[in-house]
Amino acid sequence: MANHKVRRSYKKSRGKSQSWFKRGHVGFSRQTPQEIQNMSTSAAEDSQTKRLSVREAEDVRHAAEDINGATLPYQLRPQPQNEEREDMAELDENIIVNIDCLHNLVREVHKQSCSKPCVKVAVTKRAGLCVTVQMKCSSCKYQAPPVNLTDTMKKSRGPAAGVLNDMLVLPVLKSKLGLMDVSLVLSCLNIKAPTQALLQRKLNNMSNTVSRLNEDQMMHNQQYVHRVLQLSGKEAAADVQFDTSYASRPQGGFEKAKQSFAAVIEHNTKQKLVLSTAIANKHCASKTCAHNNCSKNFPSQQSIASSERHLLLENLNNLDKKKILKIRSITTDASAQIGKALRDFNSKKSSNIKHYHCFIHRLRTLEKKIRNIKLDSKMLGTQDKTNYIKMLASGVRTRVRMELQNLKTIKSNDGNYFVTRSSQALANIIPCFSNDHSKCSKASTVCQHHMSSIGKYSVKHLPYGQHLHLSNTDSSRLKDTISSTFDTETLQYVSNLYNTNRCESLHSTIFNYAPKFTCWKRNFSGLCHSATHSRTLGKGRATVILARAFGIKVKQHSQMYRNLQHIDKRSTYHSRRKESFQYKQTRYFLRKRVSNLPLLKDSLYSSQPSSSAGDHSYGISY
Ligand SMILES: [Zn+2]
Ligand SMILES: [Zn+2]
Ligand SMILES: [Zn+2]
Ligand SMILES: [Zn+2]
Repeated sequence: MANHKVRRSYKKSRGKSQSWFKRGHVGFSRQTPQEIQNMSTSAAEDSQTKRLSVREAEDVRHAAEDINGATLPYQLRPQPQNEEREDMAELDENIIVNIDCLHNLVREVHKQSCSKPCVKVAVTKRAGLCVTVQMKCSSCKYQAPPVNLTDTMKKSRGPAAGVLNDMLVLPVLKSKLGLMDVSLVLSCLNIKAPTQALLQRKLNNMSNTVSRLNEDQMMHNQQYVHRVLQLSGKEAAADVQFDTSYASRPQGGFEKAKQSFAAVIEHNTKQKLVLSTAIANKHCASKTCAHNNCSKNFPSQQSIASSERHLLLENLNNLDKKKILKIRSITTDASAQIGKALRDFNSKKSSNIKHYHCFIHRLRTLEKKIRNIKLDSKMLGTQDKTNYIKMLASGVRTRVRMELQNLKTIKSNDGNYFVTRSSQALANIIPCFSNDHSKCSKASTVCQHHMSSIGKYSVKHLPYGQHLHLSNTDSSRLKDTISSTFDTETLQYVSNLYNTNRCESLHSTIFNYAPKFTCWKRNFSGLCHSATHSRTLGKGRATVILARAFGIKVKQHSQMYRNLQHIDKRSTYHSRRKESFQYKQTRYFLRKRVSNLPLLKDSLYSSQPSSSAGDHSYGISY
């Protein structure tokens, strides 16, 4: 019998806890707050106990491991909460007011003269951030007409609406801010934030606008590059780079990324304009959607890793359809998918787009491969094998880069000149590093050993500032690594020394706008277009253009216009500074200091006090 009772009360309490999350739920009683107030005060007088808050009561029950939820003692029954009253909030809040509109209000009030003014201002209409107020005087019964405190803009349908709510969405598309962040900022400023639904609707509309704007802009870019190439007297075909990036949200168990983005950027002008972009998206926000006309454009059953091929073909087809600019060559990282996709495209369209590999990626691979070599040779003195091979790897990488860049500048009628000369130069690197310069005069464009008599030659770039002293097996392994990473075929692939740096930096901009830890379902493509648009025109200018395209009036001398212009000015200053010699030198020394950290740690120059554990270790190291 008792058991039965316990079960029933458990069911009851579960039903209650479910209704906590329902709309309009107030406390735990159907009585009015007044009654509860009376009840709880009398109860408190009776038992001299105070009720716990909801969370405290939950925690106490959790700590007591009381899972079957028997009838609770009075103290543990959660306290009813009074909902705060709406009209109280109005008295103490900030609102955004346009100076021009405030002027109207003051003018209205100034007309009226009153002997005993007793003025109240009340909000009569509120649409998001846009507020209409009315002034009343209780002593002379004067009522000013309601005054709108913000600027309005014309809508395609309905009356003119306040412009602030639309402006509020601009930073969501032009920065890493999300809708929730915008609400948080407003809440911290003590401003009543518009509802999430309103903001989401505005964001969706604006996202469509920015996609359209950027499509237009990319077409202008194609026309511009075409014109530049024509004026330069070259064939009007562009060299481009292409790379894909994946959005991922930390998630265990299965493939993380659901969206990917790929851009085609040209090499021919100094601006490196974006010519075309493509987006693969597996997300759809709606559960009941046929996916005919939504943001989802990539089938769920396919792996997003295979989207690279699709995106390349989509980009090339886009460019092909517009018939503005031809593509001469495309530079990518060494991915097998792309080679095949490009061959397919070439045979289908009977075009002849050349395929190059990214030079920088190749150098990175070389450095990684050399770092992974386990040396057999004995080290001298206190030299550390891991540090040694690290320094050697970066030295070889720099040398390969310099040799290839120098050879690229030599003009020759022989088509194979670059490949033959560079394979000679690369084979000579390890002998030259081991102080055997017999072939340097012919094979190297970098070695300065022949100038050692005038003090030009230095071995600072070598590990521990010494020539290599490696066994024959180690030397031949190093040589093999270099020649296999840069074999004849690869040298042909990198022969233009193009890279995909611009694509990578565009990707970092995109994941700044649409951070990887947030899942953007519908508006991912809008954010990608917005980032690309900002990349082409500068953030400030792109924002002004987007605002105007959306119907927001941005006047030439308004605060908004000036501030946005200032953002552009500052960013051009920073990008110019980054190209300056001083900046590069500072960066170089900073990086050098980091890479030397493991070396300096054990040296006598180390300023770090040795730990007592180290002092008393009797030479035993773990
Ligand atoms: Zn006056
Ligand atoms: Zn009055
Ligand atoms: Zn859908
Ligand atoms: Zn040499």
